[in-house]
Amino acid sequence: MKILALGAAGFIGSHLTHRLLKEGHIVTAVDLQSEKVAEDLDHAHLTFLRQDIRSPAWDLDGMVRDADLVIDLIAYANPGLYLRIPLEVFRLNFLENLKIAEACVRHGKRLIQFSTCEVYGRTAASLKNAAVADPEDPIHATFSEDTSEYILGPVAKHRWIYSCAKQLLERVLHAYGLEQGFNYTIIRPFNFIGPKIDFLPQKDDDIPRVFSFFMDALLNGTPMKLVNGGVNRRCYTYIDDAIECTYRIVENHGGVCDRQIVNIGSPYNEVSIRQMAETMREIYAARFRDPAVPLPEIISVPGEEFYGEGYDDSDRRIPDITKARTLLGWEPVWGIHDTLETTMRYYVSERRNAATTCNG
Ligand code: UDP
Repeated sequence: MKILALGAAGFIGSHLTHRLLKEGHIVTAVDLQSEKVAEDLDHAHLTFLRQDIRSPAWDLDGMVRDADLVIDLIAYANPGLYLRIPLEVFRLNFLENLKIAEACVRHGKRLIQFSTCEVYGRTAASLKNAAVADPEDPIHATFSEDTSEYILGPVAKHRWIYSCAKQLLERVLHAYGLEQGFNYTIIRPFNFIGPKIDFLPQKDDDIPRVFSFFMDALLNGTPMKLVNGGVNRRCYTYIDDAIECTYRIVENHGGVCDRQIVNIGSPYNEVSIRQMAETMREIYAARFRDPAVPLPEIISVPGEEFYGEGYDDSDRRIPDITKARTLLGWEPVWGIHDTLETTMRYYVSERRNAATTCNG
């Protein structure tokens, strides 16, 4: 297939582009920068276009027309940004993504739209005065694509602008499907993690995702900070598992994913952020430690101090993967320990390679 991959050089995009090329597809990859797809840049079936899709001058229409399938991974998908630049988060994640979807509608092309598990918001069990018999029962935090209700915070908690923008985009795709037979598949990723997830923070005001903060703290012996005690929980999904499922959606045998929403995540890998910090520190001490650097302490910091005004959080989210299992025969195989260790190994070796290059 001729595949147009937008946002192809981000974390998920770079792994997916690699797989698409390996499977023999012809890929036009569009992104702002190419570092994460460096290993594939010379591939005969890859055309890389360095392009800001927000630029009025670029030929979105022509590119969509030439493709058999469009995959849209373009997003600001990092909570630090939802708090710092909420308007741009709305513009990119809704307005710009809508243009891509509408080009697909115009040209009758199938679209795979990456959305987010953030659309589910908070759990009912987390609400004040929640009338829930056993709040710890995972059933209250297990979200299903076609039946779960969404609970978001007030407007003043502007973290939720991302969730809202993505939700609205999903609803528009659904409406185009209903009214015009538009063919899409929406993917809701649950905390994918692996090599290249984020760049480690370089400046004081860089706010990557939690893994990169913890990794940076381990490499430098600075404190690992738990926002509000690290009680929130996430299900981390190793990128190879995620790409396997995504690739089955690309293949879409028998049209099983036509006009479907699919959760991709590992329900078996749930950890609190505190557990994640402790596990990463244990793995680091056992496998990677530089004896010259002290092991970091784990401290708690208030959310508003860490992120600024407008902070709120998803307390817990577990994917119901019945659909991915039944439509695609997919099952995640990576456990949490191997997921963290393999991802950490990548960053440790990157840091050591960088040090060797500087010293050499
Ligand atoms: N978090 C933390 N310490 C950090 C960065 C994040 O405790 O240094 C928390 C954050 O408040 C959230 C969780 O880790 O509860 C996951 O945050 P992340 O930014 O990785 O993305 P999310 O899963 O919320 O999209």
